[in-house]
Amino acid sequence: MFDTVAGIAALASNIQQSATRVFDAVTPIAAAPSTSPISPGRTRHGCARVDDMSDTCLVCDEISGAVPVPGEHLETTDLVTVFQCPVLAPATDIYAGYLFVVPRRHVAGFSGLTDTEAAAVGLAIAHWSKALELAGAERVYVVRTGHAVDHLHVHLIPRWPETPKEVSWLHVDDWDGARRLDSADAAEFVSALRATRSF
Ligand SMILES: [Zn+2]
Repeated sequence: MFDTVAGIAALASNIQQSATRVFDAVTPIAAAPSTSPISPGRTRHGCARVDDMSDTCLVCDEISGAVPVPGEHLETTDLVTVFQCPVLAPATDIYAGYLFVVPRRHVAGFSGLTDTEAAAVGLAIAHWSKALELAGAERVYVVRTGHAVDHLHVHLIPRWPETPKEVSWLHVDDWDGARRLDSADAAEFVSALRATRSF
């Protein structure tokens, strides 16, 4: 475990450097004048542009693989799937460690889960929060809104330690220094994070 933790800490450091490089590449977008605190082309949490989707279920498509996610699924069982939140296009602006925990069954919210599904979702939230903390997150925010996609998806949003104190939890993924990755770096991060799943 020690070697795994040390390894992922080293990777997190490398990713931070990569994120700086990646961010440099997207600076023109992030720095564009706007009256909104949210960068153009990003939703509140920097995830997929669900407003660009058809009336099919984006989450079901991410579970089935019809819509790819960075580094493939972190965990998938009969009841729950966990994956790194993607950006549909271009996949060069992914917030490191922003995870979704979703029930595999198409159900709108917590109230629709069976007890067994609720237990599986809860355990996945706990386990992957711990994995993110092992990767160096100083805090993991857990959010469920459900306004855009009618399939329960719980957001796990890490707060990385370089985040300034004045950046609120709502903006840990879209301040100028946020750890943003391209698809290759995100896949590497996901692979390292998956390796911590020995608890
Ligand atoms: Zn669905």
